[in-house]
Amino acid sequence: TMIDPLLPGSGRGVKFSDVAGAKEAKQEVMEFVDFLKNPTKYQKLGAKVPKGALLLGPPGCGKTLLAKAIATEGQVPFLAMNGSEFIEMIGGLGAARVRDLFKEAKKRAPCIIYIDEIDAIGRKRSTGASVDGGSQETEQTLNQLLVEMDGILSKEGVVLLASTNRFDILDKALLRPGRFDRHIMMELPNLDERRQIFNHHLKGIILEKPATFYSKRMASLTLGFSGADIANVVNEAALFAARNAKKCVTAEELEYAIERVVGGTEKRSQAVSPEE
Ligand code: ATP
Repeated sequence: TMIDPLLPGSGRGVKFSDVAGAKEAKQEVMEFVDFLKNPTKYQKLGAKVPKGALLLGPPGCGKTLLAKAIATEGQVPFLAMNGSEFIEMIGGLGAARVRDLFKEAKKRAPCIIYIDEIDAIGRKRSTGASVDGGSQETEQTLNQLLVEMDGILSKEGVVLLASTNRFDILDKALLRPGRFDRHIMMELPNLDERRQIFNHHLKGIILEKPATFYSKRMASLTLGFSGADIANVVNEAALFAARNAKKCVTAEELEYAIERVVGGTEKRSQAVSPEE
């Protein structure tokens, strides 16, 4: 394949079928896959493909998973960075890093750039100083990102994906036409999606009964769980079974694991600072 396994966070391996549920989101990104697979088809017609899309929704709902799946299905390299990696930089290094990222992407095109937690660099410039006093630096980095986005020509075959769960604090300049004008929602999974996510993760586990025996019941016990929480439940159940020297996972371990993950989630939400 054309996917470079040396790239950090290579999308290699994650397929659309690994993203359970999220039917609409998957449909929406199909046009990017088609474009990445065959950019010349679009170039010949003079069609302008959207430059990128913003993946929105709470943590653990498969945003990164979907981005990686687009890279795998489109058979292109996946250049991933976290927004916070840019703001830790001082002395204009954040902006330089943005420049380098886009330079690298143009070299490797067709490819995907994925910026996780883009709100770290993309927060509203008007809101002024960030707590760490790095606001000017962050502003420079954001400006550089806007410049680079505008500089990418649709025919170059670079698709820019970014994710955030803080759409409300994003600088509106990022959302103008020709920038992140496509928004793809990845919400918490509903009952049937939770069932599908359980099914997917239970496939890798030795169970007493078929996965479908458990997935429906477990889905009904896990209102408000994200995909990441469900993956966590399944693994906790397997760990628990192993600790107790069981030969397979049963409903008992799964229910125990759900309790544990609920406990963890409650602790997490209590830890959120009041000004958030
Ligand atoms: P964050 O905003 O915290 O980065 P995210 O939305 O990018 O969250 P992912 O990193 O994609 O979340 O998901 C974390 C893990 O949760 C995945 O590696 C996978 O194991 C599981 N997961 C999340 N959503 C799904 C899904 N729809 N189907 C299957 N597994 C899922």
